[in-house]
Amino acid sequence: MQISEIRITPVAAPDPPLLNAAGLHAPYALRIIVELVSADGLSGWGEIPGSEATRAALETAAKHLVGMDPWQLNAIFTTLESLAKPDDRGAAPWDQRTWVHVRSAIEVACYDLMGKSAGRPVVDLLGGAARERAPFAAYLFYKYEGAGGEFGFGRDESAEGWFAARQLAALDPDGIVAQAQAMVAQYGFKSIKLKGGAFEPQREVDAMLALREAFGPDMPLRLDPNAIWRVDTAIATGKQLEGVLEYFEDPVRGQENMAAVARAVDIPLATNMCTTSFADLPGSVAHQSEAIILSDHHFWGGFRASLDLARFCDVFGRGMSMHSNSHLGISLAAMTHLAASAPNLTYDCDSHYPWQDGHDLLVTPLAFEDGAIAVPSEPGLGIEVDRAKLARLHERYLACGLTERNDEIEMQQAQPGWAFQSTRW
Ligand SMILES: [Mg+2]
Repeated sequence: MQISEIRITPVAAPDPPLLNAAGLHAPYALRIIVELVSADGLSGWGEIPGSEATRAALETAAKHLVGMDPWQLNAIFTTLESLAKPDDRGAAPWDQRTWVHVRSAIEVACYDLMGKSAGRPVVDLLGGAARERAPFAAYLFYKYEGAGGEFGFGRDESAEGWFAARQLAALDPDGIVAQAQAMVAQYGFKSIKLKGGAFEPQREVDAMLALREAFGPDMPLRLDPNAIWRVDTAIATGKQLEGVLEYFEDPVRGQENMAAVARAVDIPLATNMCTTSFADLPGSVAHQSEAIILSDHHFWGGFRASLDLARFCDVFGRGMSMHSNSHLGISLAAMTHLAASAPNLTYDCDSHYPWQDGHDLLVTPLAFEDGAIAVPSEPGLGIEVDRAKLARLHERYLACGLTERNDEIEMQQAQPGWAFQSTRW
């Protein structure tokens, strides 16, 4: 099998004004869609977060990968490593490295091609399904009014149910509970996560306590302030949430600070910020910085790297969950195959997909049933990309003028003078 062409398409998907420690989501979430076309006419798809640096790196990589065999991943990775430049995840909540994303996009697309060529779903190429359905969690956000994208900060009056509720502002505990009820009613999620770090800590603690009150003790709850709290703040807030949280995600920045909170608070700590690459694993062991690592095939370098992480978690007694950024259906399919194949995925996965639901680029989007997605049984990722939808999302990318995610600039439009602080409270 041979890769004959690589198509790289930046797209912009509508995204509501969601608040987080880095500011405010812009009206569009940027993604890059990668299509590997084989000489025998098959297409393999990958999706990663969008940025101009990543797009340029993909273009460079594509020149070297055309002609290679998608089954020869070791040769492909060696080629990518020879091109990669040192980079850093940065201080923002999301990972800003370039080459690990390139590796992920190419590897996932290769697996889609391999599966289509062999007539087997990707999960079978990863060792087979450890579970038939991938469980996901409701992912709540403080937000301003509006649904994002072409709706701007206004309203789509024809929307109903969750799609009406997701347009509403959620700025206090009552708003967060209402958002959770609408999302859980639509998708059937069995766990709830709140993106924190947007308001003073007590307001976010109160929201978690309101969720506990509304949903009862059987609904696992998580809070993620994206490392914007000091150690003393995290300990004080954590003490109020002992017995309430399933896990406490990145309350503070860095492995040593996480370890200090872990020693003081009786809640498992989770991370997608202090232990985010294989180079971080020795520090994780030395400091005991977290009890749970959030995998993410976009950030760890694909399926196989994520399963290597799963093995580490198994050996070193870490639980494993899954991280998400705003994404479309190719990523959701990849996340589902990975979640199905990791034997020790011990927590429901994150997904932003309900915020993008209805704007996907698939012919038949994957659907949550009772909080989970059935693992596709069709060859490859088991999805079909709608090329007309892909073209429209690319046109939006060209028209929206955004080339990088920058939540600080977006927040400054709502609050002039607002500036990101890596530690705020
Ligand atoms: Mg996180």
